[in-house]
This record gives sequence, structure tokens and C-alpha cells, in this order.
Amino acid sequence: MSKKQPILFVQPPMFPNEQPVERMELGGFKCTYCHGNGWFWGLDEYGEHIKQECPVCKGKKRLKAVVTIEWKEEQ
Ligand SMILES: [Zn+2]
Repeated sequence: MSKKQPILFVQPPMFPNEQPVERMELGGFKCTYCHGNGWFWGLDEYGEHIKQECPVCKGKKRLKAVVTIEWKEEQ
């Protein structure tokens, strides 16, 4: 079965002294905390079942990876 898999090719920029830090965002990951539902069943102050927003994805159902690459001298 096919599987979507993000791949990041790491390569130093042309001018690493001027651009020592790279930052990129990779989105479209299903939230593992709520399993992509975006909410959980919870109880309100009267004991009634209510939908509560996922605290991790804030109800968006998806997560993004914020990747930061810092170019430094090798030790
Ligand atoms: Zn979530």
C-alpha cells in the first residue's frame, strides 16, 4: 500500500555566513493526540457530554513540523 512520506534534503546554502539558520514548515500530519478527530468527549458543569477541542491541534485535526537547521562549523 502506498504511503505519503515527507523527505527533507539537507544541503548548505550558497552563503551560510549570511544565512546560517533555515526554517521551514511541513504540514499535513494527522494529530496523533486526538487521532485526527480534533476533539474529545468531555463533561460540562452540569455533567452533560460536550465536545472539547483537542489541546494539541486546537481542533485543526492536523499538525505541522517546524524544522530549524543551523549551519555551524564541524567539531
Ligand atoms: Zn488533535
